[in-house]
Parts: sequence; structure tokens; C-alpha cells
Amino acid sequence: MKAVLLKESNKVVVEELSIPQLDKGDILVEMKACGLCGTDIEKMHGQYTAARPVLGHEATGIITEVGEDVDGFKVGDRVFPHHHTPCYSCHFCKHGSETMCSSFRTSNLDPCGFAEYFRVPAFNIHQGGVLKLPGSVGFEAASLIEPVSCCIRGLNRCGVSSGDSVLVVGAGPMGLMHLQLLKQLGAQVLISEVNPVRLAYAEKLGAHQVYDAAKVDVPSTVRKDTDGRGVDVALVAAGSPKTIVQALKSVRKGGTVCLFGVPIVGSVLDYDFSNIFNSEISIVSSYGSTERETKEALRMIEEHRIDTASLITRRFRLEEFEKAVETAMKGDSLKIVITP
Ligand SMILES: [Zn+2]
Ligand SMILES: [Zn+2]
Repeated sequence: MKAVLLKESNKVVVEELSIPQLDKGDILVEMKACGLCGTDIEKMHGQYTAARPVLGHEATGIITEVGEDVDGFKVGDRVFPHHHTPCYSCHFCKHGSETMCSSFRTSNLDPCGFAEYFRVPAFNIHQGGVLKLPGSVGFEAASLIEPVSCCIRGLNRCGVSSGDSVLVVGAGPMGLMHLQLLKQLGAQVLISEVNPVRLAYAEKLGAHQVYDAAKVDVPSTVRKDTDGRGVDVALVAAGSPKTIVQALKSVRKGGTVCLFGVPIVGSVLDYDFSNIFNSEISIVSSYGSTERETKEALRMIEEHRIDTASLITRRFRLEEFEKAVETAMKGDSLKIVITP
């Protein structure tokens, strides 16, 4: 079978491997669709702090084999298997930091999500990480469960409520997923972005205000559009330190900045930190998601509350992986899905 592997030099190769053997409690899934995430590309560039970078964590497919002692799943089930699951019993899990659980990043799809077949470890199954897909939810749409679930967790952590004004910095796939979720929460969404193609998508998906960050000074324009106040929440769905500063300068006194995009390791902000205190700004970050959010994401996709069709704009086969990455880096497409 084919699998996309990340080699030591950060080089990506499509390799021929044997189909993984199951241990007790594992399942084998034939991949049908797996989204390409910005963090996959960061891993390729060595800009990510994972101990063992595994590519492909937005995978869906059909169970083709079940190990000994697997309850509740059978061959032929269509599933979304979460690549990481918390233990739900350690100090972090019991204090609401489930994605900081030491078990969370240690158990993963084997060899990865970008493979014709992958093994889902017993731990992930046991912790409720595998969701069965309703017949009405296609594999491509289901590949958005993981990214949508991360957005849901981020918004819950920021405490966005109806009537809030929210600036989303970055109109890539994640920014546009946030836009859709925020609109359902009854928030007024402003979006800033430099890429004209993505700005057009933000407009099409119903942003209240769309700012071309290459042309306007976003913080002062945001203030103008919010009676001089600034937004209640500024959500950073991009990775550069500049976008974080843009969010800090656009939020109102007493407001919240939500860090969602991944800044590269070693990022330093050019920002006067005394403002954080003087303006009582809260900074909240959000990493990954748990089954609470993956279930909610699946429900929203099933109920067509997320427009998955407009978010997925390109598809590539496993052997075209390099081309998919090049396309993603150009930035004029939205979500890219890899199929076998
Ligand atoms: Zn992702
Ligand atoms: Zn734990």
C-alpha cells in the first residue's frame, strides 16, 4: 500500500509499505479521504514541536479488519477515527486541559492518515475517538470533522456569545470555518486577509465586513467600524506574529484574543505588553480537540450547518501529494483533500 512519510530531513516521500498488522483491540481502516492541514505543512518545514511528526490527522474511511476484543465496530463501518485522544483520568484531563494530557499526542494513526490503510490503536478506540458516520455524511465532508472540532473548542474557550463582534484574522479554511460557526452563535464577524481569492470566499460565506489587510490598516479600520471600541474577540486563524499583533491592536478594552493558528517555533512579538494589563486583554489559546467537540462537529456537518462543499476546493491522489502541498502553499485554494 502507498503511504506519505515524513523523513528525517523533512523530506516527504510516497512509499510502498505493507499493510499494518493489528494488535488486540485495534482496527484497520481503508482511507477514503484525508484533509491536508496547515500543521502538516509546518511539520514538513520543521516548524512544529511534535516529538514524532506524523502527517495526516483528518482521515476518514471504511473499517476493513477488526482486532481481537473490539466492541461496537465491524468490517464495513464508515468511520472518522480521531488521531489523538486523552486519557480522561489524569490531572490535566480532570482540570479541563484534556488536549494537554500526556497520552494525547502519544497515540496516533499508524503509519499516518495519508495512507491507503491505517491502523487505529486500541487506546483511541477505547477512549471513544472513533465515530461512526451517518449514511448522509460523505467521506470528504467527514474529513472536516477534526478541523471543525478544533474550531468549536477554540470558540468555547474564548466564550464567544450572541451579539459579540469578532474579528477573524485570516480567511483560510480555518478562518472560514470559524466564520460559519460564529455566525451560528449570532456573532457579527469581521475578517481580515491579504489574499484576494480568500477575501472573496469570506464575502460569499457572509462576513459582515471584509478587510484587505494588504490595503488597509486593520486595527484602525476595525475601531472605526465598532464605534471606536474594537472588537469583543479577535481570533487569530493565521500563524505569523504580525497577525497576532493585528489581533491585539483590534480588540476592545476587556476583550479576548484567541490564538488558534500555530505560530512557528521561536516567534517573538513586537508589541508593548503593558497594554495587555492596562486594557485588561485576555489571551486564550486552543490546541486540538476532544470527543466532546468531534461529536458536535459531526452533528453540525450532518445537519448541514457547515457548508463543507464550499470549503473543499481541491482534491489530489496520494501519489500527487507533493503537488497538493505546492497548491496549498500558493494559498488560492481552500481545503485540500487527499484521496487514495
Ligand atoms: Zn488539522
Ligand atoms: Zn489525561
